[in-house]
Amino acid sequence: KDFRNDVKPNWCPGCGDFSVQAAMQRAAANVGLVPENLAVISGIGCSGRISGYINAYGFHGIHGRSLPIAQGVKMANRDLTVIASGGDGDGYAIGMAHTVHAIRRNIDITYVVMDNQIYGLTKGQTSPRSAVGFKTKSTPMGSIEQAISPMELALTVGATFVAQSFSTDLKDLTALIEAGIKHKGFSLINVFSPCVTYNKVNTYDWFKENLTKLSDIEGYDASNREMAMQTLMKHNGLVTGLIYQNTERQSYQELIHGYSEAPLTKADLNLDQAHFDKLVAEFM
Ligand code: SF4
Repeated sequence: KDFRNDVKPNWCPGCGDFSVQAAMQRAAANVGLVPENLAVISGIGCSGRISGYINAYGFHGIHGRSLPIAQGVKMANRDLTVIASGGDGDGYAIGMAHTVHAIRRNIDITYVVMDNQIYGLTKGQTSPRSAVGFKTKSTPMGSIEQAISPMELALTVGATFVAQSFSTDLKDLTALIEAGIKHKGFSLINVFSPCVTYNKVNTYDWFKENLTKLSDIEGYDASNREMAMQTLMKHNGLVTGLIYQNTERQSYQELIHGYSEAPLTKADLNLDQAHFDKLVAEFM
């Protein structure tokens, strides 16, 4: 089934986000979804436009709030596959509290972050992913703040699926998104997605020179959390592939006592006027 629509993305030519969009569409098709079973929820930023470029349910939310909306959608209708998406500024700055708590909550959604180490939509300011010394209009003398390490952070707050990719590795990225969709719980996929217009440091060539594929590390075991953390620290977070997966921990939905078998959107709540009045009275 085709997840393409007629909307022409207005990303700059060469922006990494094009590949992320393609990977998301391919992954959805590869796992057998149809558009009416997929919801893509995004925040604000260049990458936030992605929800309008995919033939599925889409919700372009407010800055940093893609995850609360995505979690609400999933809780109301578990039949939907839910992908939340946005940029590093959206998810690791204003939305960081939601990111941390969605990870530890382990709701069954997939979060794809397009990480370009800069704010592109507002024409190039330092983001929480910019390295120390990174010069932009907002830090003309170089950033003096430590960059966030999202993969390490995710591991420390109980993530059950942590992966990272590079937007040019379309095949690997598609496979990781597929695995994230199939994972029973929250999956975080950080994608290095270069901003060719404003970030002249973290370019395609820079990533090609600095990234290490986990598949090239002999004996790497993605079920070993300690190994995952040590490998991330050794490579300064610049690795791609499935970093960690815990298939044993149950998802939030599975752990809720008495969670209805039917999605809320389809459940017979038997809410006639008498029931409704009783419910209201209980909260008065
Ligand atoms: Fe992509 Fe950067 Fe252009 Fe935004 S400004 S569309 S992130 S290249």
